[in-house]
Amino acid sequence: MSKPLVVITGASSGFGAQMAEIFNQQGYPLLLLARRTECILSLPLNFQNVMIEKVDVTDKLAFQQAIEKAVAKFGPVDLLVNNAGVMLLGNVTSQDATQWQQMLDVNIMGVLNGIQIVLNKMIDQRHGTIINISSLAGKKTFRNHVAYVASKFGVHGLTETIREEVSDKNVRICLVAPGAAETELLSHTTDRQSQKDYTAWKETMGGITLDPKVVAQTVQFIYEMPQEVTIREIDLAATAQD
Ligand code: NDP
Repeated sequence: MSKPLVVITGASSGFGAQMAEIFNQQGYPLLLLARRTECILSLPLNFQNVMIEKVDVTDKLAFQQAIEKAVAKFGPVDLLVNNAGVMLLGNVTSQDATQWQQMLDVNIMGVLNGIQIVLNKMIDQRHGTIINISSLAGKKTFRNHVAYVASKFGVHGLTETIREEVSDKNVRICLVAPGAAETELLSHTTDRQSQKDYTAWKETMGGITLDPKVVAQTVQFIYEMPQEVTIREIDLAATAQD
């Protein structure tokens, strides 16, 4: 039997790129979204059943049009992974408010956009899964992470709220909260001191952070549980992380 459509946001690097590889190897038709589509094209994928669309997740119309195009080709979305995210570290006393806005827009509005685009159809079908990638920063605080922490606490809150609203419709909404991993995430921080502090903190773990592939495997594990089973949340981090 042919496999259903999987949509992954932020598929151009880090966790999302690893998810794209894993679901591609399993033979799922994929819609892969990011702004840097050229990075997706350089991933080691079998591109036969892969649609790639340049989408900023804060642009709801473009997001919706990309999903409609993929649905017309592959059928209904059965899994949406809201993975796209941005982390711009800085101190609350000095950080530019445009960076707070960007984190709130991408990490919260982008996730809500994705959910609203697919949820009604999943409810009608009484089938479907949404997995939101939050962070351990959605459960505990970290210095100079103020708006990032706010955004990820928001992802935790919205995920659990929607889960309660759709649980009787046989639709699953799940959350993965990873700890620190080596991806491009830190590279977008412009505040040099925050970047240095974060790097020094990671060194206290003996340089061993979470392998992004493990996050992708966790997403696959959650999804491939029977539809009647919702893994509400998985927190995972390198053993050495405090
Ligand atoms: P990366 O920076 O490697 O990947 C982030 C992805 O998000 C990229 O593919 C980027 O694509 C995409 N993205 C960013 N902004 C937008 C946007 N406006 N519209 C569409 N796509 C966007 O970081 P990670 O892989 O680490 O991050 C993935 C998720 O994991 C994030 O939600 C992050 O908060 C979370 N996380 C990461 C941790 C870590 O230590 N790495 C720990 C805990 C959680 P492009 O730039 O091409 O648009």
